[in-house]
Amino acid sequence: MIPYHKTTGIIIKVRSYGEGNKHLTVYTRGFGKIHAVAKGASKIKSRFGSTIELFTETKLFLYKQQNKDLYLLTQTEIETHFKNISKNVKKYTYASAVSDFINTFVPFGEKSRSLYELFFNTLSKINSEENESRIFSMFMVKFLTQTGFKIALNLCASCGNGLVQNRRMAVSPKHGGVVCEDCSNGISTVEVYNNTLKLMDLMQRKNFDALTNLKIEDNSHMEIEKIVEHFLEYNFELKLKSLKVMESIRNYGG
Ligand SMILES: [Zn+2]
Repeated sequence: MIPYHKTTGIIIKVRSYGEGNKHLTVYTRGFGKIHAVAKGASKIKSRFGSTIELFTETKLFLYKQQNKDLYLLTQTEIETHFKNISKNVKKYTYASAVSDFINTFVPFGEKSRSLYELFFNTLSKINSEENESRIFSMFMVKFLTQTGFKIALNLCASCGNGLVQNRRMAVSPKHGGVVCEDCSNGISTVEVYNNTLKLMDLMQRKNFDALTNLKIEDNSHMEIEKIVEHFLEYNFELKLKSLKVMESIRNYGG
């Protein structure tokens, strides 16, 4: 195998490592999530400069040592710099929450072109648009879809029978969707408004630009987060820190 590789990636975690080095977590187009080391990156005259700042999309030239999961960064070129995200605390917090999903739930080395596109588009929208919470909700719904959760409004996710359209519906993290009354008996479900599910269905099917004017009420935001939280916790047995942060932002009028 050739040890030299070239790909594009978004920096999602940076920490100091050894003497003057930086250890990065990067979500790449070509190899999924990877660990990479940038030697000498902490030095003032580092050749990497701002190319390895958080949330920057960078062209990466990598060297992979045999039998090691660690890539060595040999050269970088900036591809996309989200300058509003780095300057604006609110945008930065939303970008952190989005990358928290990638950091927490996406396994290393699992490549997905569509997830990369989703991640990149979400950061671009947070960078350039005002309504960050709408973008964040859309990201969560789309992320959930990619990890196997599907909102089907008409059919029960467990038995496949037609669903009676009540005002409140039961969502089952175990079955990955809405379940009928019979199937919801005796299992753990999340109760949400039918309207929230209709909204999620729309977000699942349409892209960001098609829903620019979509108005999402606060209670729908919260219900979407509740579904996302339950589903991810059930399937990954992990908790997200960022949702709590989002809650406090909203309470302060975000
Ligand atoms: Zn059923």
